Amino acid sequence: MMLRFGPVALVLIVALLATPVEAQLKKPLAQDLARHGDGTSLLPEVVALSLHVVRNGGLERRTFTADELAAMTEITVDGYVNGVVVLTTTPLTVTVGDQPMNTILDQGDGSHKLKYYGTMASQRFWDTYLPRGCAGSPEARIKGRYSCFSRVPWDTLSKNQTFEIGFGLKSAHQIWTVRQDVPLQVVLAPPQQVERPGPMFYYLGKDLGRFKQRSTDFNDRLEAIQAGIKGVEAIASSVMVEQVNILDCQGPSNAYTCPNKAELWINSEMFWKESLPELRIIAEHEAMHLLSDRLGFSDNVHIRDLFAELMSANTSSAERAAVKAAGYLSNSQTANPISAGNHLLLDFINESNFIRGMNGGHAQESVDEFCASFLHTLFYIDRLAQLLGQPIITQQHSLVTLSVAEQAQLLEAYRRILETMGQEIEKLDIPEPVKTLFQSGLAAARQAESTLETHRAGAAAPHRRQPS
Ligand SMILES: [Zn+2]
Repeated sequence: MMLRFGPVALVLIVALLATPVEAQLKKPLAQDLARHGDGTSLLPEVVALSLHVVRNGGLERRTFTADELAAMTEITVDGYVNGVVVLTTTPLTVTVGDQPMNTILDQGDGSHKLKYYGTMASQRFWDTYLPRGCAGSPEARIKGRYSCFSRVPWDTLSKNQTFEIGFGLKSAHQIWTVRQDVPLQVVLAPPQQVERPGPMFYYLGKDLGRFKQRSTDFNDRLEAIQAGIKGVEAIASSVMVEQVNILDCQGPSNAYTCPNKAELWINSEMFWKESLPELRIIAEHEAMHLLSDRLGFSDNVHIRDLFAELMSANTSSAERAAVKAAGYLSNSQTANPISAGNHLLLDFINESNFIRGMNGGHAQESVDEFCASFLHTLFYIDRLAQLLGQPIITQQHSLVTLSVAEQAQLLEAYRRILETMGQEIEKLDIPEPVKTLFQSGLAAARQAESTLETHRAGAAAPHRRQPS
């Protein structure tokens, strides 16, 4: 539900307060203990349950053994839960909230893959999650391995103060309630919302005082983020971000969006550190991801083809097909499969080059990033011709000056992306402003071509000598 605020600036609603620091062990009530049909407890199948807890911006892990779990029906944590890992001796149905947990994959190469968390060396995985003193080979004994992590690093798994972790085997079912210090979800009123409501702002962290102390600056920061989002929403002709989450964490400065979620996440360090124009560009870039998702760009076969071609011009067709399938270049592929020209093209469309004075953009990373940054260039397309004549700022922060012929090649490649995406746009039933954006792009590319042509003609013309 979208809440609306009047023009009153900042403030306000602290949703939850801190709860006790230590996990509270509570005796189970008789009705809480579900049992197997044969009367034995379900618990023997459960070897360990681990919670990843974000507390004061740091990450802590807490592992509960079967014996500990048997003595409690409720787990209380100080902070909020970011991930859950469960090990069992028999495959069970394991749920977090009403969602099944993901099976942890033993990848057969000495590593385990935990969805949304990453890949861990198997030895490290067992050292981390298997309680000490467990006898025997873990691979042979632990037949059920499950994980559930938030899609966005450092986010909370559940926005509720309590959620349930359930174990099921045949007709037996047992539930633990997790009570978290949800944290301090603070709802901050967005600034002026005149025509259309902007996103709601939430803060996940414990440093609310900082926001109160810097209310004026904070409000400007909200406005910058809101302006970036609304600029893209005006093109999309619809609301794309309903909620902005400011995450207090010690992780790297970053901002995120997820496909099919009308939310934007931003690390609090980034929120406080970046300039107002940069915050706006960051929000625009993230909203561009959502626009790209709506247009189906990342999954579009022709756009993926083009991306794979750009990313692996120096490789075999098999490797190129692998890039197309994955949507990114894997580490195992040829050391430097991207041609020098394509490197420059990808650098050219990055925000750090195309929107001078700003940072960011990593079009080389994946088809998602490529599409988001390219769409973003169309927002600033009036700069195209002028930018071509300036040295390109590369991802390594060096400057590369192009000859007129090289500029023409780069422009041709830029136009090819524009046309490929534009052709796909034409097939879609989408708002007119998106089509107009691409038409403006093509017009700017044609204009840039004619400017370059003039320069080329000038360079080729013989110098007139003064009569001696
Ligand atoms: Zn991005």
